[in-house]
Amino acid sequence: MEPELPDLRSLPRSEVDALVVRLGEKPYRARQLFRWLHQKGAATLEEMSDLPAGFRTRLAVELRLTVLARAEERRSADGTIKWTWRTHDGKLVESVYMPEAERRTLCVSSQVGCAVGCTFCLTGTMGLARNLEPGEIVDQVHRANRRLVELGLGEGPRPLTNLVFMGMGEPLANYRSLKVALDLLLSEDGPNFSQRRVTVSTSGLVPVIRRLGEETFVKLAVSLNATTDAQRDAIMPINKRYPLAELLAACRAFPTRNGRRITFEYVLLAGVNDDLEDARRLARLLSGIPTKVNLIPYNENPGLGFRAPPPGRLSAFQDELVRHNLTVVVRRSRGSDISAACGQLASEGGPGDPRRAAPTLTAPAPAR
Ligand code: SAH
Ligand code: SF4
Repeated sequence: MEPELPDLRSLPRSEVDALVVRLGEKPYRARQLFRWLHQKGAATLEEMSDLPAGFRTRLAVELRLTVLARAEERRSADGTIKWTWRTHDGKLVESVYMPEAERRTLCVSSQVGCAVGCTFCLTGTMGLARNLEPGEIVDQVHRANRRLVELGLGEGPRPLTNLVFMGMGEPLANYRSLKVALDLLLSEDGPNFSQRRVTVSTSGLVPVIRRLGEETFVKLAVSLNATTDAQRDAIMPINKRYPLAELLAACRAFPTRNGRRITFEYVLLAGVNDDLEDARRLARLLSGIPTKVNLIPYNENPGLGFRAPPPGRLSAFQDELVRHNLTVVVRRSRGSDISAACGQLASEGGPGDPRRAAPTLTAPAPAR
């Protein structure tokens, strides 16, 4: 089999610069090319009309260009849109668009499937097919922006204002690609997202949390979901490797600049972690960390054996946290009519997709 050509969309800026020089072009062409790739989200080399034809031909010989194909688009009554994208090797990944009054957020996938295997999570049941390349991560943003413009949603060439890495996969398990993708997305010659408007969510890969803190300024969200090691071991196997004390120590050490807070996500599972005693323990665990708690009522997945909290439980849990001076946000349920679900996405029709057997999946509230 022919070896695969490197992907132009996955190259860090420094490599785009080096490539342009190596191909004998004037250095200013690098910026032009980079802008086509990451500011305008060009889908083809032909589109890059102000680049010399010979240059484009040489690019086409040496590299390929990642463009995600839109396999499916589902629009919810509440404005949420879920896109399923097909990669060049036929894998399916999903992104979810969530408009609000003040912001337009895209929930981005970082892997095809996920190896962490949290027992309540639909993506976790798929296992990991493969990591996404940087170009496949950023192209979710480019395709979404272009599509939103096409649909007349939002203003300007880049309608999206916020990004959350809460789609399929564990972003910190694909750190190398994530870091390149973040640099591209934050680049002034690219979509130029503000660090404060990009959030990476993790199940708790402690050493990589430290790295993220050292190497970036983006926001951190941690999926905590339990208040004792026994509880967390049972639903999030990663806890056996990085138990609560280590995880919270890494969070305490995470550089929080300009009053930036870490978000702790807590999915309420009936009878598992939704007791008021859990709320009190949670408050104790988080004391001293500048934080915000995101409470997410569980969205039931057929076959996984967990239940949403009974009526009233969510607000009682929330009240208990507020009594302990925590800032709490409850995630409003959105996009439930289209199975749009940050954190519980599975490629439809893919291996391990429970929706093949049970197409009536309900969706959770979106990530913020
Ligand atoms: N792997 C990363 C990011 C993706 S998961 C992480 O775990 O943080 C995004 C969020 O969705 C996590 O907080 C997870 O706990 C939550 N989640 C997963 N399945 C869910 C479900 N069925 N209902 C509600 N939230 C869910
Ligand atoms: Fe992976 Fe996050 Fe789902 Fe856990 S909750 S299986 S880490 S996607």
